Amino acid sequence: MKKVLIIGAGASGLSCAKTLSDAGVACQILEARNRIGGRIWTLQASPAHNVELGAEFIHGAQKELIDLLEQHQLSFEDLLDHHLERKDSELKNISGFWEKVEKVNALLNPKIKKDRSMQDFLIAHRKKISTLKDLYVSYLEGFQAMDLHLAGEKGLAESEKKEVPELNGQSQFRPLPGYSSVMEGLFKDIQLSSTEIHFEHEVQQVLTNAKNPAVVALNLKKNKLQNFAAPFLVLALPVGVLKSSLYFDPPLPDLTQALRTVETGHALRITFQFKERFWESLSKKPVAFLHIDPREYFPTWWTQMPRRTPFLTAWQGGPKAFEISHLKESEQVQLALQTLSKITDLSFTALKKYYVNHFVHNWTLDPYARGAYSYVGVHEKTSWKRLQKPFHENIYLAGEALSEGADRGTVQGALKSGREAAEKILRRL
Ligand SMILES: Cc1cc2nc3c(=O)[nH]c(=O)nc-3n(C[C@H](O)[C@H](O)[C@H](O)COP(=O)(O)OP(=O)(O)OC[C@H]3O[C@@H](n4cnc5c(N)ncnc54)[C@H](O)[C@@H]3O)c2cc1C
Repeated sequence: MKKVLIIGAGASGLSCAKTLSDAGVACQILEARNRIGGRIWTLQASPAHNVELGAEFIHGAQKELIDLLEQHQLSFEDLLDHHLERKDSELKNISGFWEKVEKVNALLNPKIKKDRSMQDFLIAHRKKISTLKDLYVSYLEGFQAMDLHLAGEKGLAESEKKEVPELNGQSQFRPLPGYSSVMEGLFKDIQLSSTEIHFEHEVQQVLTNAKNPAVVALNLKKNKLQNFAAPFLVLALPVGVLKSSLYFDPPLPDLTQALRTVETGHALRITFQFKERFWESLSKKPVAFLHIDPREYFPTWWTQMPRRTPFLTAWQGGPKAFEISHLKESEQVQLALQTLSKITDLSFTALKKYYVNHFVHNWTLDPYARGAYSYVGVHEKTSWKRLQKPFHENIYLAGEALSEGADRGTVQGALKSGREAAEKILRRL
């Protein structure tokens, strides 16, 4: 029997396995998909270009992720933080976006006695922020993928007060060979040790009372149930999966309670490949990000600048992403192109002539993700931080939802939480 059983081979599960294997601790990983990386998934769209279906950006020069890139000699580029907005039938520069967000963030109260939803926060401060409200809502829904009725002021206040580290004055980057190459690098390091991985093993049940925690997994290739056990169990799974797909026998009331404090955000991204970069003629400045009224579907778009490629990505976050994730893919594409037509002032027919292909993955309907990334809900008595401690002494959690501050919901946060779960186990061995 291996010492540690890890469920999930996303960034957090792999980072946990790497820390354990570096310390000479044997582990076993069960992964439902036939690939590593989870919500990181890079596709080779053409011989010269790759496209991300999940994570794309590195938010902040976080040491963990930058070290990993450097160890594996993977290059990364600075993001061109230049934004244009279609307003009053013109494309205008958006200036001071982050400063405006910061102005509203300054009103968040991390010590508020009774937590409230972000919707209630906006109502309470409506007079002070009247001109900033639309921009702030588009930040919360678009960037944080939040539902304003579910997101809590306390949780957001805690995450927004943390500084994002910079490298040479830059804080947003993109891994150039694609995010999956980062996961492959991590996986290579682990494979060299005694770690075993079983793909296409969907964990359905967690037997919490066993002396050694155990799981029941469906071997998807053989359509056969199998039991696995180890002295320590790490559930490196998305919150949506923990909340609705796993059967805990007997239930762990503490876990159920703590999971209620974390919400799953939804996001839908579609990357379009066009015959040419028609957007370059829209502005004299390089076109990096394009925006339109957040009431439109897919109000945010971006290019792959500073590289000049024929790809444009459409982004919808928040409750509207959840709503449209239930439409047919062709309808989602139609909605996105309708918005692009408004942003570029090109007819739908003209856009269709440029169209070559599109790339999308529906993370909301994906049974092994059930959404994009997490945020803190309205705090009740229990804090989400309870998730960072073991359950029944030997069941640990890992994943982006366990990370704090600006790391929450990110690849960096997932890597860190996996390492931390492993370190806690190592202290007990
Ligand atoms: C559209 C989108 C855009 C994003 N953009 C960014 C970005 O730009 N920058 C950034 O830093 N982050 C971004 N993120 C978030 C980032 O991808 C995640 O925070 C991170 O990858 C999560 O890693 P994880 O290990 O916590 O979870 P996951 O990557 O989800 O790993 C969990 C693993 O568990 C497996 N699994 C699930 N259920 C079972 C089961 N029952 N049995 C066995 N295995 C199971 C899954 O297949 C998966 O491999 C984005 C996410 C999405 C969806």
